[in-house]
Amino acid sequence: NLNSNPEGKPRILLMGLRRSGKSSIQKVVFHKMSPNETLFLESTNKIVKDEISNSSFVQFQIWDFPGQVDFFDPNFDCEMIFGGCGALVFVIDAQDDYIDALMKLNLTVTRAYKVNPNIRFEVFIHKVDGLSDDHKIEAQRDIHQRANDELMEEGFDSVNLSFYLTSIYDHSIFEAFSKVVQKLIPQLPTLENLLNIFVSNSGIEKAFLFDVVSKIYIATDSSPVDMQSYELCCDMIDVVVDISCIYGTKEADGAAFDHQSLSLIKLNNSTILYLREVNRFLALVCILREDHFARQGLIDYNFVCFRNAIQEVFEVRMQVQQASNNPNPNV
Ligand code: GDP
Repeated sequence: NLNSNPEGKPRILLMGLRRSGKSSIQKVVFHKMSPNETLFLESTNKIVKDEISNSSFVQFQIWDFPGQVDFFDPNFDCEMIFGGCGALVFVIDAQDDYIDALMKLNLTVTRAYKVNPNIRFEVFIHKVDGLSDDHKIEAQRDIHQRANDELMEEGFDSVNLSFYLTSIYDHSIFEAFSKVVQKLIPQLPTLENLLNIFVSNSGIEKAFLFDVVSKIYIATDSSPVDMQSYELCCDMIDVVVDISCIYGTKEADGAAFDHQSLSLIKLNNSTILYLREVNRFLALVCILREDHFARQGLIDYNFVCFRNAIQEVFEVRMQVQQASNNPNPNV
């Protein structure tokens, strides 16, 4: 399977020019660093492998490359680096002149595609917090067009790039990472289906299945996602984890989030935020109207069914993975 490394974990590569914001993204999304602290990060000058798998459901590595990677250097093992990679995230600093970055993007994509045509290419047009709305749209249009034109000219018509406007100063970076990660989860349609069933039978307006540590949502029901609801749910996770850290009784492994985690927040606009833990890494966060919560018994019952179904989905995945890790030579 070209999309996974030997341990069967999908791998995401994070690449881009020096100072484009790679280390900041990694620290903010996966290590809870506050955006202001990234001002003092030292620039990356080596490949950083970040194993997030111990604390997060999303099992992947981020390889932070220094901007000046030379693909023609014999020490640079393209086969090894791109071969086992599920998605390549290329970060472009939108506040800077991006001509160099586009050249680098082209070089990277064409090189990686030759080794592994299954890689998903995700371009983060980053640091857009400093840009006006018009400027953002213009930057995205321009980068999209130039990047695609160049690939077409070189005959890479079938390469598909996805573009995202991102900043570490708001939730856009989490939203973008959510989309990137979702593409690497083979069970996504099943998860969405289960969420749809749960939501429609429980009178819930919106439900997100979150990876608690990174606040990436790995699935949601099929009603449209509005940024405000997502932000509200992210904030709820922060509140719950912070309160549990301060006042909660600690599990043996010190985790603030455990199998009994449950929280209910009533907002002053007759809306309720409802969080339930699904497993060690995942939480379900729902938004619903207060009057629908009168039937909490029904919601709780549906939730238990939902949680059981999720467990089954991932048990099947583990069995499949184990089977592929121990192939029987006689079969
Ligand atoms: P790297 O060399 O690609 O790892 O880049 P760094 O992560 O070291 O970031 C370079 C600089 O960009 C740092 O001073 C960050 O604070 C800043 N930066 C990163 N992301 C953003 C962003 O979304 N908006 C703004 N305004 N600055 C950012």
